[in-house]
Amino acid sequence: MDVFARFSTFTAAREVIAAGLYPYFLPLDGHEGPTVIRDGREIIMCGSNNYLGLTGDLRVRAAARAAVDRYGTSCTGSRFLNGNLTLHQELEAELASFYGKQAALVMSTGYQTNLGVIAALLTPRDHVLIDQDAHASIIDGCRLSGARLRRFEHNDAGSLERALAALPEDAARLVVVDGVYSMEGDICDLPAISRVCRAHGARLIVDDAHGLGVLAGGRGTPAHFGLTDEVDLVTVTFSKSLASLGGAVIGDEDAIHYLRHHARSLMFSASLPPADTAAALTALRILRDEPELAYRARKNATYVRGELARVGVDTGSSDTPVVPLHTPGTTETLTLWRRLLDRGVYVNPVLPPAASPRLRTSYMASHTPEQLDRALDAFAAEAHLLRQPEPAAAT
Ligand code: PMP
Repeated sequence: MDVFARFSTFTAAREVIAAGLYPYFLPLDGHEGPTVIRDGREIIMCGSNNYLGLTGDLRVRAAARAAVDRYGTSCTGSRFLNGNLTLHQELEAELASFYGKQAALVMSTGYQTNLGVIAALLTPRDHVLIDQDAHASIIDGCRLSGARLRRFEHNDAGSLERALAALPEDAARLVVVDGVYSMEGDICDLPAISRVCRAHGARLIVDDAHGLGVLAGGRGTPAHFGLTDEVDLVTVTFSKSLASLGGAVIGDEDAIHYLRHHARSLMFSASLPPADTAAALTALRILRDEPELAYRARKNATYVRGELARVGVDTGSSDTPVVPLHTPGTTETLTLWRRLLDRGVYVNPVLPPAASPRLRTSYMASHTPEQLDRALDAFAAEAHLLRQPEPAAAT
């Protein structure tokens, strides 16, 4: 059997392309923030993670340019050996302080951060418990570690507790959750989850990719609940609110010291380039000084959810800038995605196994009321294709 044989048996994507409904790898000519340019036409972007709209901010752009002038375009090596900049360390110090922790470690993507941290912490003898809706980078980190992996019901501390109680008493155990779930936009029940972890001697990591810049005036999920000390490690990405690329793990000094010497995705991969590091640092400073940006992103999403409810669209348990529009199946998802694009609105189609079928929409601090209303008009015009809410039970 030739391992390349699967190239010709993989036909699903070609069929969708032939039907004119292929939604992935869509080339964009301009990507300024709340609007993008596609085939020379301006489209309202309701599918980005640029929650604060900082990718176009003049201060962030200027910082990236200045970093290129000072340090060049790349460090061409791992931080471990020859690619460590004072700029990386400055960003680490400010991130740690922003999250109320002792130290941080900057890596080249959020994906690599979860992969490196989880795989460095666990051995095949250990147990790891993750939420049913955990991000792929968490799952992949667990798999790489070889630890025994169990998934608990989404955001259900009772389900986590039952799974922890079933483990052998002396088993080393780690729990990993998202602070904000990227497909549903709901917030982790951190008070209950952290209580259960503490009661069962489990260490807790929160992936705050979608909480940073969004909750608690941007300070993230642990701060939102006043539970900074209950969370052992936080992982973040710079590719969303911080308008850049990269990731970091934040925690106690001894944990970060260990990870610096054990996270293979850090040690064996080139460091975050100067421009990306400077962009993330400048965006972090803007967020620190202007927390109203975080409130504005949530306010825009609250407005959208309210208007959608008025036209009978159920947005589930979303409480953040991520607002899912649930669909009955794959065909409706792709058809809706296409129709909305034709109406000038960009959204992300999500299909199983990533999550149940839906359009993932998201909102930015920089969306204008007029842009939101135009998007809402498009959603309302196509709402008949969305999954209809369950009828109320007869009394
Ligand atoms: N964690 C979560 C919850 C994410 O949504 C993402 C990105 N989609 C990542 C980690 C990975 O981040 P990055 O883009 O920096 O690799």
